[in-house]
Amino acid sequence: QAKLEGKNQHLTFTEEMRVDTYNKIQDEHELSRAIENNEFELYYQPQFDLSKKKIISAEALIRWNHPDKGLVFPNDFIPLAENSGKIIELGYWVLESSIAYLARRKEQNKPDLTIHINLSSKQLCAPGLIQSVQQLLSIYQVPAKLLGFEITETSILEDLEISKEVLKVFKDMGICISIDDFGTGFSSLAQLKNLPVSLLKIDRGFVMDLEEDIDDRKIVEAIIAMAHKLNIKVLAEGIETQAQWDRLSSFHCDFGQGYLVSKAITEEEFNQIPTNIE
Ligand code: C2E
Ligand code: MG
Ligand code: MG
Ligand code: MG
Repeated sequence: QAKLEGKNQHLTFTEEMRVDTYNKIQDEHELSRAIENNEFELYYQPQFDLSKKKIISAEALIRWNHPDKGLVFPNDFIPLAENSGKIIELGYWVLESSIAYLARRKEQNKPDLTIHINLSSKQLCAPGLIQSVQQLLSIYQVPAKLLGFEITETSILEDLEISKEVLKVFKDMGICISIDDFGTGFSSLAQLKNLPVSLLKIDRGFVMDLEEDIDDRKIVEAIIAMAHKLNIKVLAEGIETQAQWDRLSSFHCDFGQGYLVSKAITEEEFNQIPTNIE
């Protein structure tokens, strides 16, 4: 009996490995097929004003409703999309889908809300992004001020000159530019003053240890104070506890996002949540 089980396990194991390798080889092409088959879906995570206790914006986060694997999260396919170049196609889908959602909200007379989408550095530096954004906003009749772009400091540093130029155009259009995962790269606050940035997102890693790590506490307090001196607003990522919320409030952090209030949810769910947080 045990032997049989053993054999079975062995069979299952190799079978899975074969399937896995098969999937990995196919994945790159699967991305385009999945776009055509409508397998991607944007989820929205509420972002809130800490003092007003109100939801003021959302971050669009991509999910893949995979026919065999179920719900697949971005960390499992965004790197492949970036390395294969498919991120351009996928990024365009994300852009159009979020702008289409903003148009639907307007049609349904829902209150104005900014949607922030994540941009990869490849996407930011690819020719045609500015034109695509302008075209989509005009086709869907959506004002630029309802759109935000999040980009990591490491992405910007990959091609600082191009990034700076493109981001400047977007900021001048009225699009909100955020630095994502701030604190995880090696750039300094001093570099921020040369970038067209409106919002800085403090990485979840600092927020997570806010109560346990006195150094993280000091770093977060200093980041917020210095960003404010540079006229940049601050959002804390990954707020999971009331203690973290209170601590960040005491540091005058402007905005937050995290499981304490809500994880990323579907459009249908997002349309139903109340604006006020209690
Ligand atoms: P990110 O932009 O830093 O997004 C925040 C991630 O933290 C999201 O994971 C979100 O679900 C998660 N998160 C939010 N609040 C909490 C919390 O309180 N606790 C914990 N533990 N996690 C929290 P997700 O959706 O898996 O996305 C991971 C990363 O994938 C994103 O990190 C972003 O870099 C990338 N990504 C997601 N959507 C897109 C997209 O449309 N385009 C591109 N280029 N990248 C994307
Ligand atoms: Mg982000
Ligand atoms: Mg982040
Ligand atoms: Mg991240």
